[in-house]
Amino acid sequence: MKILVPVKRVIDYNVKPRVKADQSGVDLANVKMSMNPFDEIAVEEAIRLKEAGKADEIVVVSIGEQKAQETLRTGLAMGADRGILVVADAMPEPLAVAKILAKVVEEESPDLVILGKQAIDDDSNQVGQMLAALLDWPQGTFASKVEPADGKVNVTREVDGGLETLSLSTPAIITTDLRLNEPRYASLPNIMKAKKKPIDEKTPADYGVDTAARLEVLKVIEPPKREAGEIVPDVDTLVAKIKEKGFAA
Ligand code: AMP
Repeated sequence: MKILVPVKRVIDYNVKPRVKADQSGVDLANVKMSMNPFDEIAVEEAIRLKEAGKADEIVVVSIGEQKAQETLRTGLAMGADRGILVVADAMPEPLAVAKILAKVVEEESPDLVILGKQAIDDDSNQVGQMLAALLDWPQGTFASKVEPADGKVNVTREVDGGLETLSLSTPAIITTDLRLNEPRYASLPNIMKAKKKPIDEKTPADYGVDTAARLEVLKVIEPPKREAGEIVPDVDTLVAKIKEKGFAA
């Protein structure tokens, strides 16, 4: 079984984002960037399937600027076999990303594509679903357990009030939820080995995909600052304050 794992380079989850002065977006100058955390979970799951003898090749793919190569190297150091870097000047929107991934899938013919459920930079939560629609493949989103069995793959999903298990015929699309696994850290020897693993470089034009933006960002603003709390002497004062501020029904 071959597994394709799309990995996005995003602002590191520990960094507090700063909005640009002209409100056109988040300032990424000199900001630490890392692999999207849900994609680390996807890489980890692919590696565990390989270690369990259920997969034999893992290909990581990233679409973005040249520096996304570092994100691919992280995936290779964790244990993926090879990478594909699709270099685009500006970060393409989810639909364009899904179209490029659909072409990569056509070329690579994986049995599974495991994506993150969402990228933490723009929280779109779209690419996996769009890719499934473009390929007309079954999808198991927000997976908390993945178990291949006899040409099928069982995906357990956390839904309101319990767990749902789907049996998908392969090839299939899976998107990862937080509780699927805990990703490993790459060891130093594996980081060194990853430097020698191959990364193929492409452009969206190689796949015939137009990445022109179709959405316009009107403005990006900081969330309102939280006001300092206040200690009130008793419940009556608390209720009066709540009424005064308009929070009570
Ligand atoms: P999104 O729909 O943008 O929230 O992203 C969902 C998932 O799609 C991510 O967790 C990645 O697995 C994949 N993805 C999104 N954008 C990219 C990208 N530029 N390169 C590679 N994978 C991506």
